This record gives sequence, structure tokens and C-alpha cells, in this order.
Amino acid sequence: MSLRLFNTLTRQKELFVPLAVAAGQVGLPQGVEVKMYVCGVTVYDFCHLGHARAYVVWDTVRRYLEFSGYTVNYVQNITDIDDKIIKRAQTEGVPFTEITERYIQAYNEDMAKLNIKPANHYPRATAHIPQMIDLIQTLIAKDIAYVVAGDVYYAVQKFPSYGKLSHRTLESMQAGASGRVGLPGGEEEASKRYPFDFALWKAAKPGEPSWQSPWGRGRPGWHIECSAMVKSCLGDTIDIHAGGADLQFPHHENEIAQSEGATGKPLARYWLHNGFVNISGEKMSKSLGNFKTIRSLLQLYHPMALRLFILQAHYRQPIDFTEEAINSASKSWQLLAEGLTFAEDFATLVNRDNQRLDATYVEQFRGGMDDDCNTPVALSVIFDLAKTLKKERNLITHGSPTHYSREELTTLWHTFYTLCDVLGLAPAPAIRDYVPPQQLQEEGREIEMTEEMIAEMIAQRKEAKRQKNYQEADRIRNELKEKGIELIDLPGGVTKWKYKD
Ligand SMILES: [Zn+2]
Repeated sequence: MSLRLFNTLTRQKELFVPLAVAAGQVGLPQGVEVKMYVCGVTVYDFCHLGHARAYVVWDTVRRYLEFSGYTVNYVQNITDIDDKIIKRAQTEGVPFTEITERYIQAYNEDMAKLNIKPANHYPRATAHIPQMIDLIQTLIAKDIAYVVAGDVYYAVQKFPSYGKLSHRTLESMQAGASGRVGLPGGEEEASKRYPFDFALWKAAKPGEPSWQSPWGRGRPGWHIECSAMVKSCLGDTIDIHAGGADLQFPHHENEIAQSEGATGKPLARYWLHNGFVNISGEKMSKSLGNFKTIRSLLQLYHPMALRLFILQAHYRQPIDFTEEAINSASKSWQLLAEGLTFAEDFATLVNRDNQRLDATYVEQFRGGMDDDCNTPVALSVIFDLAKTLKKERNLITHGSPTHYSREELTTLWHTFYTLCDVLGLAPAPAIRDYVPPQQLQEEGREIEMTEEMIAEMIAQRKEAKRQKNYQEADRIRNELKEKGIELIDLPGGVTKWKYKD
């Protein structure tokens, strides 16, 4: 194995050696376990393009490790308690669990469309409160954390290597913060001993969800949940810890401080971070109005075009989402889609029993992926194969003899399909044959509304009403009416639907 990964901790590409191998297990890589943890979503809203990028990238890394023979134990947490969730629940006047259940379901739907493999385990913060309390107690016992009136803080000055991941020191942070301005924590954190200390546990406020703890009722800070869940699901030291570049500081830095402060062992051997997503050269943000949810994008584009757009850049580089770029990715996807159906379209020309892979193509593909998962290089190999298959397709449809024998064609197709699958670009037919609703409309084709589409529009209408945008809510109701679907609003904010008589 010669996979090299860029480790944020050391700022260089390093040979990937899993913990199990470093600890003396032989027989690499077949069957060797790789422990991988990815920071998951805070479930208070629909996922956006930034989430799509992160989860497509880490899914691809996981798939490549599996293709290489490793058994990946992939864990991704769900932050189901947080300020934003509480605020949303208060605005809607519903229990916070209604918010979290709604957006967990939406998350699962979006990820399935992007052909992202489900994690082996999705631990939820609210199901790991005892583990978090345990960890905090260990830190207090070691005098690395302290209690102030029901809050518990981590004392960063007690952890000498604080800043090692994001490559900063407390001195440089302090200088950068220039006095009080820009220091983390608001008024509620005024009781901290040192400005860069961070909350492990927050004392309960009236009307907020809270749990019993040795320091009174309260709820956990965000960072502690990952430390507790890594430990509980995977152990003290894992192989790969991954997330977006925005998580390097403070989130991952704080995770290291908590976990390593408590166990005295390294938290992760490799820290991987993916780059930012810009929209037409600007940072994507709700306030700029250029915020793109995965759902809204899938109204317009094929999910695999989106996946392809993401993988066309190296994962650490920033990517710029423009209409031109996504349209070009859509065209490229057409070429891949055609290649994928080759074996179905020309069943007699492909020997399904032949599972041989073309060693030259596979080697080129691996050359790219082994170099810090360079998907642009890997994709160029896939597109070479796709073009070859297209040429053969043209010859066949014109009744001309093909350049390759049946067995050779089979090997080419099988290699193409397998490598597409490693990048998650060979989805099940339900996704492969998806047509974006907008495209159907433009083509003047009758849209057959699926129950899923109706539920999505009802959710959008509910959201419009919540934002008091009644015009939009009415527009959605009318659009459904034109398609023969009638909405019935029931008490309690529930909307049912039926076909018009
Ligand atoms: Zn995390």
C-alpha cells in the first residue's frame, strides 16, 4: 500500500499506516480495520452545498480505502442538542426533538441521493450524555477543567500542546485578539478564568432542555460530544479524523485538548480537512442570499453531476460553484451515465461472468488516489474509459465491427464500472436515471408527482409559512392544485394531501 494522505497535524503528505498495522498486525491491507470519524451535522436545517462537499469527499476516501482492502469502521456524529436547535424549536413552538427528527430524516434523504454510503454508526449527542459527563469528570480530576457556578470550562493553559493542529500558540492568539475584541465566548462566559478557555458543560437556562450532572442541571458544550463519542464508538486513538477546514479551529483543536488531556494518548493519527465552497467567487452564506441547499440544487441538477462537480477538484482546494461549472459537470455526467448502461444496452457484447480489471487503468487510477486522494487524476482515467466505450457504442450502433473482442470489451466496461463505483459515481438505477424536476418541466413533460416530491413541497410550504411568506405558501398550494393535488391543513400545523376528485 502506498496511500499518502496530507495530515493537517504535520502539514505534509504521510504514508498511511493504520493503527492496527503500526501495532504489529500483519496481512495488510486485507481485512485490517481503519477507524474513521467524521464530524456530522447539527440538525436544525436542510443541508447545503458545503455539507454535500464534505460528505461526498469523506465517502470517497472511505470507498477508496475499502477498494484497497481495508475494513472501514466509519462513524459520524449527529449534533442533536445546540443553541440553534433550541432557538428553532422555540420559534416554531415545538419540542426540540421534533426539529431534530425532521432534519435527520432530511439529511438521510439528501445523502442517499448523493450516493453516500451510510455510516456504520451515527451516534447522537443526546444519547451520550453520561459518557460526556465521565470525560468532564476525568478532566476536572486532572485539574485541566474547572467548575464555575454550574458551568464547566476547559483550562487551555493546562494543555501545553494546545494549538498544535491549527498551528497557533496561545500567545499568537492573544496578540491577534487585541485586547477584549474578538475573544471567544459571549457575556455568559464572563466567568472563565482565561479568555480562550471553552465550555465543556453549560448550566441550564430556564425553558431549555437540560440533563442532570454532578454540577447541577445543564447541557454539554459542542466540542465535548465528539471527544466522548469517538472514545465510546472507536476507542482512545483512531486512524482518521476528518471534517471541513472550518472545523480545524476551534472545534478539532478542542477535541484534541479534551481527549488527549483525559487519556494521554493521541486522538487521531491522521487529521484530514476539506476546502471551502464558494458561490460565483463569494463565500456562501445565508446573509449573502447565495445559500444553496442540496434540495434546491437537485431540483435543477442530477445528483451525480453535483458529485462529479465536487470530485473534479482536489478535496483540499477551495471550489467555486458557478452555473457554467455545474452545467459542464452535468454534460460530463451524461458521458459517464452512457458508459454505465453499456452492459445493459449491449447485453450480448458483455460477458457478465468476466470480472477482470484492466491492470494499466487501475494502476493509473491508483496512482492518482494514492497521492492524497487526487480525484481529478482518478477521474481522467475514468473519462478515458468512458470515451473508449462511447466510440465502441457508436461503432456498434452503426453496425461496424468493434475495436475490441467481447472479452476485451467486458474487461473495459467492468474496469470502468468498478472505478466509477470507487468514486461513488455508479449509483443504483433509481438515482442513475433521476431527472431533475426543473428539466422535466422545461422539456414540457408531464411531471408525475411522487409522494416524496409532494412531501417536500409541503415541507417547503410549512417553512414559507413559518417565515410569514404567505405568498410563497399560496404559490406552492396552487402549484400542487394544478397537478391535481389538494392540501388539507389540520390543527397543530399538520398538512395532509389527497388527489382532487
Ligand atoms: Zn466533531
